[in-house]
Amino acid sequence: MSAAIIDGKAFAARVRAQVAGHVARLAAGGLVPGLAVVLVGDDPASAVYVRNKGIQTKEAGMASFEHRLPAETSEAELLGLIAALNADPAVHGILVQLPLPKHLDPDLVINAIDPAKDVDGFHISNVGLLGTGQKAMVPCTPLGCLMLLRDRHGSLAGMEAVVIGRSNIVGKPMAQLLLGDSCTVTIAHSRTRNLPEVCRRADILVAAVGRPEMVKGDWIRPGATVIDVGINRVPGEGGTSRIVGDVDFASAAAVAGAITPVPGGVGPMTIACLLANTLTACCRANGLPEPEGLTP
Ligand code: NAD
Repeated sequence: MSAAIIDGKAFAARVRAQVAGHVARLAAGGLVPGLAVVLVGDDPASAVYVRNKGIQTKEAGMASFEHRLPAETSEAELLGLIAALNADPAVHGILVQLPLPKHLDPDLVINAIDPAKDVDGFHISNVGLLGTGQKAMVPCTPLGCLMLLRDRHGSLAGMEAVVIGRSNIVGKPMAQLLLGDSCTVTIAHSRTRNLPEVCRRADILVAAVGRPEMVKGDWIRPGATVIDVGINRVPGEGGTSRIVGDVDFASAAAVAGAITPVPGGVGPMTIACLLANTLTACCRANGLPEPEGLTP
């Protein structure tokens, strides 16, 4: 193995510590950033995510407001809660855990959140602001990837970046952020012809596909930086399961210059960036200077 391992777990711990330090200074002046997380239904994976978010929010010194609603919650009830959170000055960030039960329209619900409190960065206004290079709330996972890339390379200007995946949550905002940092960006997807060849031109390869170990070592340009966003559960030994990324780590690490592991790479950055976004939203809402290095 030749690639340097990008330790997202350690980096995320530093981001959380930076956020906590800033929050402590705000709290000394009587201002406590608050994050409201809304969970509708009883999807077990979502329940784990929401619990972890609550724990880490409190560890950072922020206020955590958890709203658990039954699966049969009506659209009107959910929109009513969002309106109340929009109006609550103690709430600086609002996150509605996705996926929602089938009878609720996620676009309608997300677009009901005050864009200034939309710490997931999914509101149509924030998508537009990011796409036009204006100050936005930026989706947490791509923001975390950008932080890791800047930490490794400093300036990304002029680099060839290939993003595999065009979802609104990861692929598209990732491509926008890389473009904002003056990369030459290609977005590849399920209909891309000759994907291995497209990937081989990348100095930066971001895989956000959801297909276990799809990207092989011979798809990677020697020395490239590989960011593996994928989280895929596959069968392990003796009836257990294990988590792998979208990149075949062993063959990729033999060729890449640097690579994020799964787990321990991008994953921990997502919640760290959620906390960073909540702090940023709080500072913006109160006309205070934003902390350095936590926004694009
Ligand atoms: P998605 O299903 O919404 O999008 C997947 C994208 O991959 C699509 O745009 C599709 O065109 C593309 N794709 C599918 N098959 C392909 C193929 N054979 N070749 C090329 N492209 C192909 O998924 P998503 O929400 O963007 O998530 C992607 C992965 O990232 C998943 O494994 C998900 O679990 C993971 N994820 C991780 C985090 C994190 O915190 N680390 C956050 C969000 C998503």
